Amino acid sequence: MTPIPRIGIADLLRKYPVLLLDAYGVLVTLAGPLPGAYELIEALNRRGQAYFMLTNGAARLPESAAARYRAFGLAIPPERIITSGSLLTPYFLEQGLVGQRCRVLGPADSRRYVELAGGKVVDLNADFDVLVVCDQSGFPFLETVDATLSALIDKIESGRPAAMVLPNPDLIFPTGHGFGVTSGSIALLIEAALTLRYPERLDLRFACLGKPHAAIFEEAERRAGSRDMVMIGDQLETDIRGANDFGIDSALILGGVVGAEAVAASTARPTFLLPSLQI
Ligand SMILES: [Mg+2]
Repeated sequence: MTPIPRIGIADLLRKYPVLLLDAYGVLVTLAGPLPGAYELIEALNRRGQAYFMLTNGAARLPESAAARYRAFGLAIPPERIITSGSLLTPYFLEQGLVGQRCRVLGPADSRRYVELAGGKVVDLNADFDVLVVCDQSGFPFLETVDATLSALIDKIESGRPAAMVLPNPDLIFPTGHGFGVTSGSIALLIEAALTLRYPERLDLRFACLGKPHAAIFEEAERRAGSRDMVMIGDQLETDIRGANDFGIDSALILGGVVGAEAVAASTARPTFLLPSLQI
């Protein structure tokens, strides 16, 4: 296979009218901005070049995320932040879930996302029509997962299974001192348990909204008014595979979680390798 060409950020800015930027591992970590992030955002804002941050997070509203990035020195307006949580609004409309009772796993902003989508958020011990797994924080983990699995099984047995939605399909995230499990892993646990019990029921699956699925890229295209976009990310299975499947170019930032071996072994092939964000 031919080697993947390297590119610099200045050439990416010239080549593509619209930049899609992943958050964690590209612009920031939990600890603060990554090298080059400040200069890149400043240059994009100064030129008026279109960019969107595409994040699988569903635990912070765009306004909360923007405030957090502002504290890191990154002036990213909320309207440029596309979270997987914000995709709940079109999804609820399309699927006729507006007004349904929703059990939401996640912190306060996750519940707010569901309310903004028209869902009626109920307590964790109340009956529900829709399960929305947004995040691993904001609830007692084991008790809530156990109780939710039990409730799902009760509902299937009584012939009225709940709809299951997973805005953020990420399995793990870097905590700064290792890795933590997140919402995708909760969905995996639940799906594995349901498959064990109902092996024939292929409908008992979560609808996934974040990268690598198309919905978040479609929203970026809608806001940009163009498909002439490049996705800059640090993860092969979400950022790069998502861009490939959506039919846009991608650049994998080096030096993060993905090493050269993983790139060589993966079927998700970036258009370019980006050694650094620095202009
Ligand atoms: Mg990332």
